Amino acid sequence: MLVTNNPTKALLERSFILCPHCGKIHSGLKWTPQNKTIYGSWFGLYCDNCGKVIPCLRNATSFIIIVITSPIWIFFINSWKRKWLLKQKEKFSKPLKLSVPKYNVWLHGFRFAFVYFVLTMIFKYAIFNESFTWKKPVGSLIGAIIAGLLFATVMREIITKKNGPLIMLLKSGGINRFSIENNKIITLD
Ligand SMILES: [Zn+2]
Repeated sequence: MLVTNNPTKALLERSFILCPHCGKIHSGLKWTPQNKTIYGSWFGLYCDNCGKVIPCLRNATSFIIIVITSPIWIFFINSWKRKWLLKQKEKFSKPLKLSVPKYNVWLHGFRFAFVYFVLTMIFKYAIFNESFTWKKPVGSLIGAIIAGLLFATVMREIITKKNGPLIMLLKSGGINRFSIENNKIITLD
């Protein structure tokens, strides 16, 4: 993923994804909830220029789901991938909204809290065999929700805000300045 540091745009608007198959530089805004293109990216990101799949990093939630359910899908992954590709093609044949989507702090916060809570429970009671009392999980759950909402608030600042204290701090880091024009990366300094 490429990120330009144009100060007048939010991080999502400044993010670009390079297709390794055809070399097309895509706006990161193609894969958003409002375009219904972000969910179900099980095989990667669909390139609507060449029809191939751009491999991508997975977040913790999808990785856990993939591992847990692997005995089920491993036998029909090929036919599933064919159907998935057809569905992607259909989604990308409609005009896409290339504006910064609204970031739902509650949704993302609770999702983060859920994964964090489940992992804490597995580590504490299944791996490290900590003694169990009912008070402990309740405490962990409250902690997870607070952590999740804080995490989501920070993420919203980083991803969707044009400027703000966090963004200014990130921008002061030594990232090379560049912009994207006509599918070419132009280095600014
Ligand atoms: Zn491509």
